[in-house]
Amino acid sequence: MLSPPIAEFKKHIRLILRRSAYSSKRSMKNELVLALSIPFFKYYIYTSLISHNMKKLALHWQILLGMVLGVLFGIVISQTGWGPDFVRDWIKPMGTIFINLLKLIAIPLIFASLIKGIADLKDISKFSAIGGRTILIYILTTVIAVSIGLLVVNVIQPGASVSQETLDQLTQSYSGEGAARVDQALAQKEKGPLQFVVDMVPQNIFGAASSNGNMLQVIFFAIFFGISLLLVDPLKSKPVKDFFDGFNDIILKMVDLIMLIAPYAVFALLASLVVETSNPDLFKALSYYAISVVLGLILMIGVYVLAMVLVVRKSPIWFLKGISPAQLLAFSTSSSAATLPVTMERVEEHLGVEKEVTSFVCPVGATINMDGTSLYQAVAAVFIAQALSFDLSFGDQLTIIMTATLASIGSAAVPGAGMIMLVIVLEAVGLPAEKLAIGLALIFAVDRPLDMCRTVVNVTGDAAVAMIVAKSVGKLGEPKVKNWDDRYDEVK
Ligand code: ASP
Repeated sequence: MLSPPIAEFKKHIRLILRRSAYSSKRSMKNELVLALSIPFFKYYIYTSLISHNMKKLALHWQILLGMVLGVLFGIVISQTGWGPDFVRDWIKPMGTIFINLLKLIAIPLIFASLIKGIADLKDISKFSAIGGRTILIYILTTVIAVSIGLLVVNVIQPGASVSQETLDQLTQSYSGEGAARVDQALAQKEKGPLQFVVDMVPQNIFGAASSNGNMLQVIFFAIFFGISLLLVDPLKSKPVKDFFDGFNDIILKMVDLIMLIAPYAVFALLASLVVETSNPDLFKALSYYAISVVLGLILMIGVYVLAMVLVVRKSPIWFLKGISPAQLLAFSTSSSAATLPVTMERVEEHLGVEKEVTSFVCPVGATINMDGTSLYQAVAAVFIAQALSFDLSFGDQLTIIMTATLASIGSAAVPGAGMIMLVIVLEAVGLPAEKLAIGLALIFAVDRPLDMCRTVVNVTGDAAVAMIVAKSVGKLGEPKVKNWDDRYDEVK
């Protein structure tokens, strides 16, 4: 049984009084501070996380609490001279370790769950039905996202309110960042039109699996392997299937274990983000642009909600609640690739989508379906054109729909990737080369927070499409919630 803080206080005060006869004034003060803080700290940590008696706090609330405390801590500690260094040296590494852990299991998870998923299908024609629908719905949702982005930015016209002074200030501050992204995008564009298909087929699976940037190559190999597994003598394939079955469960257990530290990790990620955030004044200058992106993203969430009601016939609140831990992680990490293991786990265990669908739809979605990114690219392209007084015709807007759809497919699922691919959209509408870097410099100051928001939509979109595809092929079952992954004391 835990002692309440009052009893702990008394114990500490008694100890201090006993020692006070021989201790200095300074150490007495330190002891008093400890006496006040330690019992409370201990009490709350125990009661909130370990105590069996405490009313259970759902994982998404724990993560949200971590995020809020992280932001507050970041704001408070930024006021001190030593705070930012302290956060960088001692807090940020926790967040980095967490992201590394998630990335660490992404490739094995794709591998095991896709092979198992395809092997469970028993029939290849089912796989082509899932594959075809997935790609079609992904393209459809992306086109809807870009169109929403264009609608919002044309109505709000955020670029019209940017003064020449702000323009100069922003381009001066971030011209280096803008130029760097233009270079990265141009290197990407050098490749031929079919290069992305060529890139999907690896020469060496170990080489492909050694980088998280090659997810499509790993997906290709796993599908190829899974289909071949279906075609061999069941006597031979059974042990391999059983192996991947067990392997898959182990990896999913690793996701559960990693998620136990999620509330602390998001605290670290957000605290370090706050202390590293640059000039808030520039932030204000871009507020209309930021509001346009966020409004568009909220409307896009509305589209998923509508799809839940009309197509999947499930409660949207239940859907959003089920996927919320993945959304919060997407927000904290700005990476749909890092969030992928959690997205897959939530879609399968909490939303009831069967593995045959999750194992294909989620990893493919994390790499090619980025509704939030495409919407942002549409808003950003038009905003830059408005701010730099570059006229866009109706035809240009149609070009934006096409190029933003393609650019979001080509964007890597990592922080800041969407901004690099924006160059391709800007080039397609004919923005002169010398204005490209200026355009990117203009939006750089608010890119990170917007990246966090658009990654939430990217992840939600993948989950929504998984539900739609599952519904359409009769693979939407009951959720198999394992509640223990939300609590320390239940991990056995
Ligand atoms: N950070 C986004 C993601 O990982 C990509 C982007 O828009 O930059 O989904």
